[in-house]
Amino acid sequence: MLKTPITEFFGVDRPIVQGGLMWVATAELVSAVSNAGGMGFMTALTFPDAERLREEIRKCREMTEKPFGVNLTFLPTLRPPDYPALIRVCIEERIRFIETAGRNPEPYLPQIKSAGIKVIHKCTSVRHAMKAEKIGCDAISIDGFEAAGHPGEDDVTTLILVPLVRDAVGVPIIASGGFADGRGLVAALALGADGMNMGTRFVATREAPVHENLKQALVRRSETETRLIMRSLRNTERVLHNRAAEKVLEIESRGDTRIQDLIPYVSGLAGREMLEAGDVEKATMAAGQCIGLIRDIPTCRELLDRIMAEAEEIIKNRLTRMLSQKS
Ligand code: NAD
Repeated sequence: MLKTPITEFFGVDRPIVQGGLMWVATAELVSAVSNAGGMGFMTALTFPDAERLREEIRKCREMTEKPFGVNLTFLPTLRPPDYPALIRVCIEERIRFIETAGRNPEPYLPQIKSAGIKVIHKCTSVRHAMKAEKIGCDAISIDGFEAAGHPGEDDVTTLILVPLVRDAVGVPIIASGGFADGRGLVAALALGADGMNMGTRFVATREAPVHENLKQALVRRSETETRLIMRSLRNTERVLHNRAAEKVLEIESRGDTRIQDLIPYVSGLAGREMLEAGDVEKATMAAGQCIGLIRDIPTCRELLDRIMAEAEEIIKNRLTRMLSQKS
């Protein structure tokens, strides 16, 4: 049992968060994480419109009585989402936590906060974390360079970012980027975070609605097998190294990149098709450097039980023994 400001904040038993995962964080995965004592976030943009999000929230409520939240990502998109409608549905469905990610959530905060919803802003730099606290966000999820998806443009690792953010803000913080096991959880707490976020690790679980081929790829691949794409558009994304990623990098290396040239490889719809059909080379797929640490495909309950047991063993035995050793 680990009680931290983040378990108190969410009202959960374990300081482990499953942040929004495009196409993957549906009711099946989110409820499994929450039922295992962690905090699951459903990714709003996965659904074509606000009413589909409403259906998924209701489905998730039938699958768990535990707390879960909704992720709203503000990054460039090919299909501009109706954010006010998505937020309205969260309010009507009594969602208590929204994870915002990417750009500044300030324009939407009055609507969200007036309903009493707590906001966790996920960002990739100390300055953005400070700004998020200043504009009223209730917690920060800080994403290091190791992370899957969009780790920002500064290339600062989790090891540096977490203590710097701890020194800079007073609200609870969640460390994100590079986490996949109990050692990571203890490290996150030691660095000053109040909990850890995992993304890629949750894709390789039994409940993730993803083709088995992709889960097996995450198990097989090593920490060196991710690539940074779309850097030329200042919208860097860390993805699994595959033929689609190679193609994107080749187009970018010619210079003067336009998003239109990359769409066949990077579009979310191509990604969704790949996640469903299991052709690992077809499109780009967000993946973090923690793939090197992923060796199996457990259930979320097995994963969280294992992480907590490992973390407690490190704290109680390994670290305590070091403290009590006479010099
Ligand atoms: P999409 O199909 O709209 O776009 C595909 C990719 O191209 C995304 O990475 C997007 O950011 C990028 N893109 C789109 N228009 C762009 C432009 N004008 N300039 C530069 N880059 C552009 O995306 P989707 O898969 O439907 O996802 C919806 C949103 O969720 C996107 O904003 C995406 O970035 C985000 N997302 C975030 C993560 C994460 O790590 N937080 C992971 C997957 C998707």
